[in-house]
Amino acid sequence: MRPFDTFLAVDWSGADDRGARPRKDAIWAALAPAAGGAAPPPVYLRSRAAAEDWLAATLAAELAAGRRVLAGFDFPFGFPAGFAAALVGRPDPLALWDWFAARLPPAGGDRFALAAAINARFPGTGPFWFNATRTDHPGLPRRGREREGHGLPERRQAEARARGAFPVWQLGGAGAVGSQAMTGMAALSRLRARLGEAVRVWPFEPPEAPVVLAEVWPSLIRAEIAGARRADEIADAAQVRVLAAALAGLQAEGALAAALGAAPPEARREEGWILGLGAETALGDAARAAVAQPAAAAPPPAAGGGLVPPRLRDDCFALPRGVDWMPVDAALARLREALAPVAGVEKVPLADADGRVLAEPARARRPNPPAANSAVDGYGFAAAATGAGIQRLPLLPGRAAAGHPFPGTVPAGQAVRILTGAPLPEGVDTVVLEEDCASDGATVAFEGPAKAGANTRRAGEDFAAGADLLPAGHRLRPPDLALLAAAGLGAVAVRRPLRVAVLSTGDEVSPAWGAALPPHRIHDANRPMLMALARRWGHAAVDLGHAPDAAGAIAARLDRGAAEADLILTSGGASAGEEDHVSRTLRDAGRLVGWRIAMKPGRPLALALWNGVPVMGLPGNPVAAFVCALVFGRPALALLSGAGWAEPQAFTVPAAFAKRKKAGRREYLRARLTPAGAAEVFRSEGSGRISGLSWAEGLVELPDGALEVAPGTPVRFLPYAGFGL
Ligand code: AMP
Ligand code: MG
Repeated sequence: MRPFDTFLAVDWSGADDRGARPRKDAIWAALAPAAGGAAPPPVYLRSRAAAEDWLAATLAAELAAGRRVLAGFDFPFGFPAGFAAALVGRPDPLALWDWFAARLPPAGGDRFALAAAINARFPGTGPFWFNATRTDHPGLPRRGREREGHGLPERRQAEARARGAFPVWQLGGAGAVGSQAMTGMAALSRLRARLGEAVRVWPFEPPEAPVVLAEVWPSLIRAEIAGARRADEIADAAQVRVLAAALAGLQAEGALAAALGAAPPEARREEGWILGLGAETALGDAARAAVAQPAAAAPPPAAGGGLVPPRLRDDCFALPRGVDWMPVDAALARLREALAPVAGVEKVPLADADGRVLAEPARARRPNPPAANSAVDGYGFAAAATGAGIQRLPLLPGRAAAGHPFPGTVPAGQAVRILTGAPLPEGVDTVVLEEDCASDGATVAFEGPAKAGANTRRAGEDFAAGADLLPAGHRLRPPDLALLAAAGLGAVAVRRPLRVAVLSTGDEVSPAWGAALPPHRIHDANRPMLMALARRWGHAAVDLGHAPDAAGAIAARLDRGAAEADLILTSGGASAGEEDHVSRTLRDAGRLVGWRIAMKPGRPLALALWNGVPVMGLPGNPVAAFVCALVFGRPALALLSGAGWAEPQAFTVPAAFAKRKKAGRREYLRARLTPAGAAEVFRSEGSGRISGLSWAEGLVELPDGALEVAPGTPVRFLPYAGFGL
């Protein structure tokens, strides 16, 4: 199933009408786009009837736009086991929804009378209780403890797990959800009827439809919501805003599927489950990340390093219905959503770990420094036994040097010769610099007062034992090796290098570099470039050579690539034309998803899984192949390798050129900086001009919208170095 495009969070209310002015305790709803970025402000819905209409209209519009929606509602979707059967004759929670819908219309309807009537069907007193009205409802106790003998469990499994959640039987009072559950189920029953087959209700039905309804509970991320609430923001509005963003973030981090799979069987059968229960940390992290930084920010790398790499889903590259051209950011978001780390894990000696990706967080085995020591060459003593003015301290025989600790104790009022890096001997807490002393070998003299602790380093002042030094997903660099070595790590668990297979295609392309070719043949420029890119990015390159424009030959190379690599990069033949044999081969095997990306150069990106291994089909033009490799290949490879999504480094600099661009696509120009720090671009934008690639030192990225660039206009410059080159 393809990912969700839109996340909706709704804070329901059992009350009828709260007036036109936005206030709490009415219904609030917020939408968040999956790709991050700007979300519309939360919507205030004054009544249940208004909310039902808004929901139906909003979901219908999303459906019409071909978007998938996950809609979360903050009321229980079911009751404790046994209730449905007693009420509707079978343990069917959705039949129960319909039962409530028939009795609680969008406006009006007396839920207290209804609760009393339900209670009458059960023995004893209860299960419902609490009466917010003056009218007495016989059979509906005002207090929970008046209930007895009704025979139903007090809580659903979900409420037993969710600390602080209220049982559904309580109809009113702060935090109670009983009224919301009844009216909410009724409303969602009507929504299902209005939208028909497009809707599934999680966890009772598999979450595989354009619209999935799920129960949520903002209290799972209470702290994050409070932290993200804006001044003057109504609490309920903040709740839905942050929750919607958190759900989007959960998907962005690849944790949504697990959360949707987490409902236990009883919950799936009848009781319902709270989405995110058991994944509070991930949800909280997602909330913080989403709210702090709507669009950019790489996700935290996948924790740990399971020895069995997860397989990618078969339909991971599928696009929503109706999507034709995709903006670059949308394509990136989708790619990020589709992929997960696949590289395995191995232990390597620290000395061989440069450039490798940590598979687990690195923790200090010992503190640094391991013992207090001297920062200078000088004389050590206890500061407390000295004072102001000229100090003369008798010197003990011997000395403390690095690697040679002083064996004895230094009595108060005496001193010892000490050198840089030597552990402070017992009795010494302060060192005076050699240059500030006079000594005849038996006595040392210096000007007091000496500052206690001067010229010493405390044990663990750099980091303590057990300190978190580097997170999983970090690519080790030489200074990191110093850090880990100092921390006592002799070997580290790292990701195996991602194996990237590279295939060139095209009848005109010749793999014989340096050979004399007839004019209708060209040398394979892409393969050396793409293999070198993969290596620069820390991956292992697998050379699949060259295949002519013939499906059989291409398929054979893809077979080999899938057997030997974790990802296959092809170039050439990726469009939809008659001579585009890579896309044809993939399509004939039923595996192609062609992405048409609104960018120049580039456009077609053919994505597919070949025997479970992702294939990224790049365009043949070397300029387009290079730009697509940088923009799409690099972050995708980084994610697969376990290093997390990679964003390029960018600087805003003045343009040293003029250009008018139309709206509708992003453009990448070969560029470099003038000595004055402005971006100049290559004289031709032709995507066959390989010389411009080599002339350039980076790319200028012009935004999707229309733009008139004049000399001095600020533009985004992405240096090659910022792409890891
Ligand atoms: P295609 O994407 O197959 O339509 O190719 C677009 C252009 O890129 C054509 O002019 C091809 O000749 C050229 N091309 C394709 N593959 C390579 C390659 N490996 N090296 C250099 N040029 C290539
Ligand atoms: Mg071709």
